Order: sequence, then structure tokens, then C-alpha cells
Amino acid sequence: DPGGNVRVVVRVRAFLPREIERNAECLIRMNPDTQRTTLLVPNDTDPANARARARKVMEEKSFTFDRSFWSHDPRDPHYATQEDIYDSLGEEFLDHNFEGYHTCIFAYGQTGSGKSYTMMGTPEQPGLIPRTCEDLFERIAAAQEETPNISYNVRVSYFEVYNEHVRDLLVPVVPHQPPYYLKIRESPTEGPYVKDLTEVPVRSLNEILRYMRIGDSNRTTASTKMNDTSSRSHAVFTIMLKQIHHDLETDETTERSSRIRLVDLAGSERAKSTEATGQRLREGSNINKSLTTLGRVIAALADPKQHRPSRNSSSSVVPYRDSILTWLLKDSLGGNSKTAMIACIAPSDYEETLSTLRYADQAKRIRTRAVVNQVDAV
Ligand code: ADP
Ligand code: MG
Repeated sequence: DPGGNVRVVVRVRAFLPREIERNAECLIRMNPDTQRTTLLVPNDTDPANARARARKVMEEKSFTFDRSFWSHDPRDPHYATQEDIYDSLGEEFLDHNFEGYHTCIFAYGQTGSGKSYTMMGTPEQPGLIPRTCEDLFERIAAAQEETPNISYNVRVSYFEVYNEHVRDLLVPVVPHQPPYYLKIRESPTEGPYVKDLTEVPVRSLNEILRYMRIGDSNRTTASTKMNDTSSRSHAVFTIMLKQIHHDLETDETTERSSRIRLVDLAGSERAKSTEATGQRLREGSNINKSLTTLGRVIAALADPKQHRPSRNSSSSVVPYRDSILTWLLKDSLGGNSKTAMIACIAPSDYEETLSTLRYADQAKRIRTRAVVNQVDAV
């Protein structure tokens, strides 16, 4: 199905020690048969929701997504592990990459909701990115045995959008020197891209994991009131897969190229909810610029009729170019890509969870137009 909808799944994490300490209540229910996710009204005793309760009347809300991943209680028979997430989403997307499609999976949600855990994971509990890398090289090894007339070329890049600047995560940070920012260009065939971004060829799982770790440690982090290690940047990990097929009978060579994009977005909460000030506030509002633009892009793509260009305007009305993030993700959001969004939610934050679920609900309506990227080589 080339005109597929954006796949939207939701995942709720376990309580953190601080939530157990304050006796937090789990406001999320997931029905394993219908994949329906329900957000309950918090009771009066949880101080974390007191401010929201004072400001408005709360209601129980339900949403249906492609999948609802229950990662709240490991003792539950429906508990979704890291492996379950990979098996139900990552594996299928990698199938598409071998078929020649571009894919993009992005994690959305407030700081501390489990985005990095889902995308990167821990050494003991690896997430989507390392599992995708592992499966990729296993498949290549198997194919090289079975079909020696296909050769494979894998390259990787890793950058972050921080404060509306693009930084190459595979270039080491030089202490006492201002960070070096890259510019964005747009090619008529390839669309927007980061100029001079490091793209390294990788030949093994160990090599690609090494670059993944280098990039991860270069990622900008700053502590906020909500989560000490939260990242305020959007991290984009990209794997380029090229399959060169040589037909022994006709002596023709074809090339299939696909791009695997795995995106860990910055926290979706508003700057004011972390009571950020000064530098933080500026970072916060710039993160909001990319995230609010992402919201507008999603809204425009979800309801194209409401955002029809005026009669005099021939240009597209989707505001991709209003932020760095949406400009770079243009293809992944509304173009040549099969795309999925993982909405990560905390178990006991009514307001932020409702906002994430609404965002995710809107993203379900987006359709992309993925094509197989194949050319005859000369
Ligand atoms: P984010 O990247 O959205 O800010 P993290 O991925 O850093 O959030 O998650 C916040 C904390 O919750 C981390 O300590 C992480 O290990 C833990 N966590 C998140 N999701 C899960 C999960 N599904 N199971 C167990 N721990 C989780
Ligand atoms: Mg994170």
C-alpha cells in the first residue's frame, strides 16, 4: 500500500522511584483486545495533578491506536517488552527497507515518558535503534550466503537539532570552542538534507553500534526540573541501505536505496511547565518552535481540506520550512516514506498525557506516499 497512513502506537512506562514515593496512581488503562487506551481522571490525593485539577474539569478520555503497548507492570501477562516493540514495528519496517522503501519511526512525548528508552534503550534492554542495526546485519549476512549476486552498502549518520541548529553527532565536541553548526540545503531529487553531514560506511554490527554510542555521548543534555538527564534536543539517527543487484542472466545492475530514520524528539512539555529561565527558556522556546511547527505540520497533513492553499497561492500550505526539524523531516512526514509515531506516555500525568494522546490521534490521519527507490545502474 503506497498511500499508507502513518502508523501510530502508544506506550506507557512503569512508575519511576519518585512516582512510587509519592504514591502516584496509574491513570492509564489499555484494552489488549481493542487496542483502546483510556486516560482516567486522577483522584484528589495525587499532588502532581492538583494544579491541572484546579484549572479545569477533567474527563475520562479514550483513544484507539494501531497498537497500545502496556509497559507499566512487568508482572502483567500483557506486558510489552523492548523485544515486543521491535517485533511488532521495527522488524516490519526493516522488511520495507529491504523492499526499497524509506521509513521513519519517531518517538514523541513529554520528558521522562520513555522516548530514549524506547529508541535507544539500555545495554541490558536495547531499544529499537540497536535492534534494527542487529537485524540489519544479520539479514545482510544471511543474504550474502543465499544471493551472492546482491551486494550491500550501509552508511550511517547521526545529528541533533538543538536550539534550531543542526549539530553533527559524529564529530567530537571540542572543549572551549563554540559548537560547529551545519546548514540545510534542498536538492530537487533528494529533498532537504544537512550539508557536510558525516556519513560513515559501516560493515558490521559492532562498527555501527560504536558510532551510535559516540553520537549518543555527544548529544546535548541539560538538566531541567522535570528530569535531570532529559535531553532538550531532537536526535536523528539515519541508516542508508543500498542493495546492488546484478542480474547474471541479463547482465543488468539495479540499485535499491532506502533510508531508515529513527528519531528521538525533545520533550513535548511546554517550557513554562519546567519553570525554566534564562538560557533554558530560550532553548525551551526554540524546542517549542520545532515542536509547535511539527504540530502545525501534522494538523495540515491530517486535514488537508482545512488547510487548502488560497486561490492565488500555488505553493504548499504545509509549513515544513518554519522549523529546522520539520524541514528536514519533510519527506518522512508527508512524502516518500513509510512512517510511524510512538507516543510515549507517563502513567500519572493527566495533562501532558492528554496532550500527547491528542497529538497522536491527529497523526493517525496523515497519509504518506512511499515508493520503491530503485534505479538501473549504468
Ligand atoms: P525520555 O527520553 O522520554 O525523557 P527516558 O527514556 O529517559 O524518557 O525514560 C525516563 C526513565 O524511565 C528512565 O529512567 C528510563 O529508564 C525509564 N523507563 C522508560 N520507559 C521504561 C520502560 N518501558 N520500562 C522500564 N523503564 C522505563
Ligand atoms: Mg530522552
